Amino acid sequence: MCSKTLLHLFDKYNVAILALGELCININEVEESAIAKSTGKQDEKDMATKDSVLFGVLSSKRKVSKSEASYREQESSSPETDCKCAECKFNLGDEKKCQIVEGEITNNGISKFFSPKGDGMLPGDIVWDFIKKTGRKLDYEEGYVINKGAEGFQCKDCKYYMNPENCLLIKGIFGPEMSCGFIVKIGNGTEI
Ligand code: SF4
Repeated sequence: MCSKTLLHLFDKYNVAILALGELCININEVEESAIAKSTGKQDEKDMATKDSVLFGVLSSKRKVSKSEASYREQESSSPETDCKCAECKFNLGDEKKCQIVEGEITNNGISKFFSPKGDGMLPGDIVWDFIKKTGRKLDYEEGYVINKGAEGFQCKDCKYYMNPENCLLIKGIFGPEMSCGFIVKIGNGTEI
C-alpha cells in the first residue's frame, strides 16, 4: 500500500474515532434521569401505581411530602445505590427536584416512588394521558422548562414538539433548543 493511501486511511479512521469519542462524552454528559424519563417503549397499558401518583400530583397541583414518600438520603457506599434518585425517571437532576416528592432532593436520595427506566409509562406520556382525560394543558411553571437542553434531549428531539414553537403538553412558546422535565424522545413511549 502506498504512503498516500495509508495517510488517507489514517485521516479517515482518526476522524471517525474522534467523532465516536465526542459521542461518548455527550452521552456521559446527559444525566441518567434524562435518559430514564425520555426513552423506552412503554405503552398506556403499562401505567403503574407510581405513575398514577404523578397523575394525582398533576390533578391536585400538590406534590407528596418527603415523609409520605419515605424519602431518605443514602450513604454513597450503600449497596442500594443502584436505586437512587439519579436513575429515576421522575428525577430532575439539575433542579434538584422530583416530579412527585416536594422540596429539594439529591441524586443519592431514594423514595418509595423510585421508578427506573422501563418501569411503567414515561412521565411525558403520563402528562399526555392526563391532558387527554382532563383537557388541561400544563402551565409553563409546571413543566420545569429550561432554555437549553442537553444535546439530543431538546424540544426538536421531542415527540410533543409541534412546529412552529409549540408544545402539546405545556402552554407557552418553545424554541427548538429548549427542553423540559417531560421530554419524550421521538419514537419512544406511547402513540400520540
Ligand atoms: S417543552 Fe419541549 S421537550 Fe418539553 S414536552 Fe414540550 S416540546 Fe417536549
